[in-house]
Amino acid sequence: MMKVIPRSQHNISRQAINPNALKVLYRLHHAGYAAYLVGGCVRDLLLGRHPKDFDIATDAHPEQIRALFRNCLLIGRRFRLAHIRFGKEVIEVATFRAPHNIEHTHKEGMVLRDNVYGTIKDDAWRRDFTINALYYNIADFSVVDYMNGMEDLQAARLRIIGDPEQRYQEDPVRILRAARLAGKLHFTLSPETASPIRKLSSLLQHVSTARLYQEVVKFFQEGKSLPIFKLLQEYALFQQLFPQVAPYINNPLMLAFLEKILAEADQRIAADKNISPAFLLAAFLWHPIFQQIQQLEEQGEECYFAYQKSIRHVLLKQRETLALPRYIQATIHDICILQYRMDKQGEPFSKGVLRHPRYRAAYDLWVIRKHHHPLELDER
Ligand code: ATP
Ligand code: MG
Repeated sequence: MMKVIPRSQHNISRQAINPNALKVLYRLHHAGYAAYLVGGCVRDLLLGRHPKDFDIATDAHPEQIRALFRNCLLIGRRFRLAHIRFGKEVIEVATFRAPHNIEHTHKEGMVLRDNVYGTIKDDAWRRDFTINALYYNIADFSVVDYMNGMEDLQAARLRIIGDPEQRYQEDPVRILRAARLAGKLHFTLSPETASPIRKLSSLLQHVSTARLYQEVVKFFQEGKSLPIFKLLQEYALFQQLFPQVAPYINNPLMLAFLEKILAEADQRIAADKNISPAFLLAAFLWHPIFQQIQQLEEQGEECYFAYQKSIRHVLLKQRETLALPRYIQATIHDICILQYRMDKQGEPFSKGVLRHPRYRAAYDLWVIRKHHHPLELDER
């Protein structure tokens, strides 16, 4: 049932909306089109948070959007989105979309469906969670709610739209989005949203490694990587993403090590510092790397080569699930190979080199290893 929440009954003020997004909304509206903010930005504004990006949905078709804006680029082949550029900033405008069409675009040989564009209701149905399907209407500043998202938002509940199993099957990345959004917002998954996840977790194997990598990077950037990590474990998702690391987190010492790393990363983000995904990935991969180093050394491999071979091997295997970009691989490699230097030299090495970011990251990892793995380092 559709609900309209009038301006007097919600907290979204135009002052909190990105001025360029407002310009786009008004221009569409004055040209006679429907124009709404939608998705994460409406959710975040209602929660009093700062949205990452402001997405706009409209009944204007791409050509009609382009006719209204000089600074407009249409992207995408079948479902076309309008990117409206303001200096460095891009506001994305999408025509209301018919349900399920994203999922079919990658399948080769599919007959293209005619009904790519739909009504606002169709557009709400094809979204992932009810709290992500709220629309802020520039015509009267109301919030339009087709999916009972407002009630879920107030109850701090993440509820998938439609039949949960079917929606996860259509796009298994929704499983990861459930964990990420629940961790980030401190929401709980509704029972029907949560229950199929463990059973369906292996569907992630059908997702492209590039898309999985992008999702993993988002886990690290929310400043909530520890709660997200716990949810990934709870729902048997961690093993899908990091099969080489999963066996180690049953060991309390190693679990404490990873939790320490993630807690520190979250603190850094809370303090407005950046964190490098390569550092966190190096820390994740350290245990399997270290175990292989030990094995190779037992087999008589020279120490430095044991480090090199193990790092290369573990990275190669990790790339079967996550498409690590080249520079990320190179940084992980350096951080891990520097463990060799630090393990050999011990503490007072030249502090000047710590100004170099890779060296700094390697040192941070080494210090955490030292505090959480006294045994591991004694063995070196
Ligand atoms: P964030 O704060 O991380 O940006 P978000 O919900 O805005 O969270 P986006 O990736 O920016 O996430 O997506 C914008 C909107 O697009 C979502 O709110 C949701 O409505 C829709 N969406 C994104 N991914 C999917 C998906 N896999 N399936 C269905 N709808 C999706
Ligand atoms: Mg977003």
